[in-house]
Amino acid sequence: MKFETQLIHGGISEDATTGATSVPIYMASTFRQTKIGQNQYEYSRTGNPTRAAVEALIATLEHGSAGFAFASGSAAINTVFSLFSAGDHIIVGNDVYGGTFRLIDAVLKHFGMTFTAVDTRDLAAVEAAITPTTKAIYLETPTNPLLHITDIAAIAKLAQAHDLLSIIDNTFASPYVQKPLDLGVDIVLHSASKYLGGHSDVIGGLVVTKTPALGEKIGYLQNAIGSILAPQESWLLQRGMKTLALRMQAHLNNAAKIFTYLKSHPAVTKIYYPGDPDNPDFSIAKQQMNGFGAMISFELQPGMNPQTFVEHLQVITLAESLGALESLIEIPALMTHGAIPRTIRLQNGIKDELIRLSVGVEASDDLLADLERGFASIQAD
Ligand SMILES: *Cc1c(COP(=O)(O)O)cnc(C)c1O
Repeated sequence: MKFETQLIHGGISEDATTGATSVPIYMASTFRQTKIGQNQYEYSRTGNPTRAAVEALIATLEHGSAGFAFASGSAAINTVFSLFSAGDHIIVGNDVYGGTFRLIDAVLKHFGMTFTAVDTRDLAAVEAAITPTTKAIYLETPTNPLLHITDIAAIAKLAQAHDLLSIIDNTFASPYVQKPLDLGVDIVLHSASKYLGGHSDVIGGLVVTKTPALGEKIGYLQNAIGSILAPQESWLLQRGMKTLALRMQAHLNNAAKIFTYLKSHPAVTKIYYPGDPDNPDFSIAKQQMNGFGAMISFELQPGMNPQTFVEHLQVITLAESLGALESLIEIPALMTHGAIPRTIRLQNGIKDELIRLSVGVEASDDLLADLERGFASIQAD
């Protein structure tokens, strides 16, 4: 089955008992056991039929052995990091999601794990960071908000050579755009609150493992830790995922048009988009991605106020998050990345004037007219 068909018919797509073409929301905490220990479901933290459907679907889409659904992307990430113990060292991308940075810095370090942040585009730097206690390489590609692209296959190979797990947060791409497990990665995870859910109406997280052995470990931790996705949310997520391909095609087309517009705009000094042929990551993006995603970041001319720009938009919503039907715009330094100290932000290339745009699926003409409105507001300043 092709990806578009898998979205509709893959995993568990209908109710086995009634044939209902939408898997029902099984609001049950426990299940009758006809013979002790022989039933498919016992207790809904351990397993629930609605959750199982969305878990089977994501495993199919990411070409993995097993899928797992969590209450949020953050819960998924925390559960994956629970594979490790005190004394273990993990290499992480130096511009991972702010919440992941916070989880590492404020929580996991207290459990005795150590972390080294590296620009994972630089394979020599990743290799140099490996120590005898290193257990994994964890990264995002594209990154947030500068949309840097790491060579996934090269990282997976390096990890294998050193007996490390490779883990990728695939939120910014979605499985429509890239499938890290096919490139040799061990674990892929998502904040399903973004492209997979797609409608700004659900918070969830998903994990997919390459091997059944890793799947067993994650399944054990999912049940032990218990930060599972509830049946209502599982249903909502699966419903959203069915249109992922349709949505992504519209997202990608709009993003390409907006990139062309911004690239030649005199008020824009710098643009970050993996599909920009002038971007140093362009060739690797082209090789490993199906399209270039729908996130674009850009910087305005010095003296032009990014806050004025974003506050004058009428169609594009000023909000955190991404991957929604509606276009969302934000200023990382003031919003999503505000908790990172300014000096570290600047070291990582996140300037105060940087704007991040999650391109939605509205008519592109309306989005372009809205951006024009934003530019008019700063020209008048
Ligand atoms: C949003 C996000 C997360 C966290 O997901 P939640 O569902 O908000 O907990 C993790 N990684 C990335 C890349 C994200 O964008």
